[in-house]
Amino acid sequence: MTNTKEELRKTDLTAGSSEALEAYGFDTLAVHSGTCPDPVTGAMLTPIYQTTTYAQRAVGQDQGFTYSRSANPTVSALERRLASLEGAEFCTCYATGLAATTALCLALLQSGDRVVVSQAVYGGTVRLFKQVLAQFGVEADFIDTSDEAALADAFRRPARFLFIETPANPTLKLTDIQLASWHAHEAGALSVVDNTLLTPALQRPFQYGADVVLHSTTKFIEGHNATVGGALITTDAELQERFAFVRNATGCIQSPFPAWLTLQGVKTLAQRMRWHSENALAVARFLESHQRIRRVVYPGLRSFSQYELAQRQQRDGGALIAFEVAGGVEAGVRLMNAVGLCTLAENLGAAETIITHPASMTHADVPPEQRAAAGITDGLVRLSVGLEDAKDLIADLERALEQ
Ligand code: PLP
Repeated sequence: MTNTKEELRKTDLTAGSSEALEAYGFDTLAVHSGTCPDPVTGAMLTPIYQTTTYAQRAVGQDQGFTYSRSANPTVSALERRLASLEGAEFCTCYATGLAATTALCLALLQSGDRVVVSQAVYGGTVRLFKQVLAQFGVEADFIDTSDEAALADAFRRPARFLFIETPANPTLKLTDIQLASWHAHEAGALSVVDNTLLTPALQRPFQYGADVVLHSTTKFIEGHNATVGGALITTDAELQERFAFVRNATGCIQSPFPAWLTLQGVKTLAQRMRWHSENALAVARFLESHQRIRRVVYPGLRSFSQYELAQRQQRDGGALIAFEVAGGVEAGVRLMNAVGLCTLAENLGAAETIITHPASMTHADVPPEQRAAAGITDGLVRLSVGLEDAKDLIADLERALEQ
C-alpha cells in the first residue's frame, strides 16, 4: 500500500469507500470507518454536531449540510460506518428501528401493494403492518419463510418486497436468505432482511442476495442499553435516494447524541458478538441439561432443528436463547420473577442479560392465532445473554429454577 496513514484515513476509511471495504478487516472498519480526527482541533472522536442548521456561504452554496432533519454530520459518520460493516455503499439512520421499517414501507409501497413477511418477526413489525399500513391499503401476508413451498406459493401473486427476520425474534427460526431472496427476485420483488439479531459481525445478508438490510441499532449495534435507533442499508443508489427523501419528508432522522453513542458502541461489535455467543452457548448447554427445562432453542446447539443452515449462514450462534420451563406458563413466569442477575425487561442485545416473556411483553400485540402459528407459545421465555461471566448467569438461573 503506497498511501500515507493520513491519506488512507482521509480517502478510504473516512469515506467508507469500496477500496476500504476490501483493504481492511471488519474489526478495523468497526473502529475507524466513516470518521477521522477533527481537521480543526484534532479531536479523535467525531463531535456531536448538536445544531439545527448550517451557515451557507452564499445562496445555493451550502457546505454539504443544510438542516438537521435532512442530514447531520454525526449521523452521517455513523451511516458511513454501518454501510461499510454490512459491505454496502449507502445507509440512512432513523430515530428507532421501527422508524426505519416505516420509512422502508413509505419509500417502497403504495395503496394496493402487497408484501410477504416472515411469520415470526418482532411484534412491533407485525403491529405496523396489521394495524397501521393495512389502513392505507397495504396487504401483508405472513408466511413461514423457512418453508420453500410456502415461499413459492406466496410469490405466485405479485409482491413489492419480501421482509425476513433471521433468526426470528423470539422463536429463532431461520430463513435461508439466499433461497428466499431468489424466490423474491424471480417474482420481481425486493428482498429485505432485518439483521438486528446477528449484526454484520455474524451474518452478511448482501452476500446472499439481499437488497436492503434493516437494523434496530438499539440492540447489539449500540450494545449498551443506552439509545434507540434504526438503519436502512443498501447497495442501490436509487433506493438510497428514496429512503433519504422519505426520511426528510416525514422527519424521522436519528438525533446526533444517540448517533454518537452508537459510533462508540459499534467499535467493539465483533468482540461483543463473539462473547455473547460464547456465553449463550454455555447457558444453552446448561439449560438443555436441566431437568426442569422442557425445550431449548439455540442455533449453536447440535439439537437445533436448522443447525446445518445456522452453520452455513451465520458465523456464530448469537446471544438469544428461547426456552420453555416444564410446568408451562406458570413455571416460566415463576422463573422470570425469581431471577436476580438477569433483568426482566423489554430489550435485547445489551451488555446486561435480559429475560423477557414475549407473549405478554414484546409480542403482546400480535394476534394470539398468529403467535400460535409462529410457535410463540405462552410459556416461551426469551433470554438475551449478556457479557457477564457465564458461571454467574448459570448460577442465577439455577437458583431461580430451584424456587
Ligand atoms: N427488529 C427487531 C428484530 C427487533 O427486535 C426490534 C425491537 O425489539 C425492532 C426491529 C424495532 O426496533 P426499535 O425498538 O429500535 O424500534
